Amino acid sequence: MEPQLSSRIKTLSTSQTIAMAERAAELKESGLDVISLSLGEPDFDTPTYIVDAAKKAMDQKFFKYPPVVGFKDTREAIVRKLKRDNNLDYDVNQVVVSNGSKQSIFNAAMVLVSPGDEVLLPSPYWVSYYEITKLVGGRPVTIKTTIENDFKLTPDQLEAAITPRTKLMIFNTPSNPSGSVYSKAELAALGKVLEKYPQVYIISDEIYEYINFSGKFASFAEISAIKDRVITINGVSKAFAMTGWRVGYMAAHPKIAKACVKIQSQVTSGANAIAQKAIIAALDGGKDKIQYMIDAFDERRQLVYKLLKDIPGFKVNMPTGAFYFFPDVSAFFGKTFNGTKINNATDLSLYLLEEARVATVTGEAFGNPECLRFSYATGKEELTEAFKRVKNALKF
Ligand code: GLU
Repeated sequence: MEPQLSSRIKTLSTSQTIAMAERAAELKESGLDVISLSLGEPDFDTPTYIVDAAKKAMDQKFFKYPPVVGFKDTREAIVRKLKRDNNLDYDVNQVVVSNGSKQSIFNAAMVLVSPGDEVLLPSPYWVSYYEITKLVGGRPVTIKTTIENDFKLTPDQLEAAITPRTKLMIFNTPSNPSGSVYSKAELAALGKVLEKYPQVYIISDEIYEYINFSGKFASFAEISAIKDRVITINGVSKAFAMTGWRVGYMAAHPKIAKACVKIQSQVTSGANAIAQKAIIAALDGGKDKIQYMIDAFDERRQLVYKLLKDIPGFKVNMPTGAFYFFPDVSAFFGKTFNGTKINNATDLSLYLLEEARVATVTGEAFGNPECLRFSYATGKEELTEAFKRVKNALKF
């Protein structure tokens, strides 16, 4: 007999970023020459000074269950980082270490959202915000932004979307997939609106903080009037090339932090002990030590901008952060290439995989079905080859 799954799982989608990356990996394994621009994962190795810190933690035998909330010295390093980089004052009891920032986002949504509560998602949003909202019983309310405004949410749009049922907004700067980075003034303007609605909380996902080419970064919690309602999410995966180590963290009002610990105590316990110890070196080393990766991403950004601009039909803006381009591809809709009719971004993504052997992620997964996401967390040679193939596959 077929297993009967819950209604919750029947309506849940698989993460499209991960699904596409796995599809590309399968095709590669079968011998096809696929270039994957799907997953947002740095192609660098974790820096040696962090690996050495992990080795030391193993020598010191950190093999037992770590505290659910995270080791005290790990949380102290997070408090130092938030003060040094973001001028934010948090106490260690406001910080919770998790198995990646994705879990921190889930925890925060789980403790704040009651069934039927509305959750604002400026789109394009990162794929998992929508599905996490559904999982915790919330109602996703998307607020569409466009490339003309660099995919940024305006205060008027925010105000128009808030209702008495709004409980949370899940926000991302620098944004995956658009690469937009909000200035302090822009956050302050959104904060002015939020000040009027004390029932609304903000999850501010700042995982791409360091991968930012604007030279400036503002954290949402710096807007002091709403700081108590901001859940600051960050981690080490992207900036320190530590995606497989699985550590992220959050900082929030102590009551929210405590509630998140309660969830973790029932679901996963504390994050990996060795990885927790290793991130102390990452956080204390700060941005300077990984500047070489940011510089490499910036070179690739300049290269991909040129390559994309050179392909008729892509409407491109220059992203200021993260490592994605999110061009509008609607000019291709209704056209036929090599016998394949392109009706939407998903068709285009599948066609590029088939014809050009280049893996991308459809904008539909991010709530902007007229766009396509290209990750440029890969070497320049591969990027050049990928866009040559894309150009060939899309001759008008
Ligand atoms: N955040 C990355 C991405 O968007 C990694 C995959 C995931 O967790 O979705 O590609």
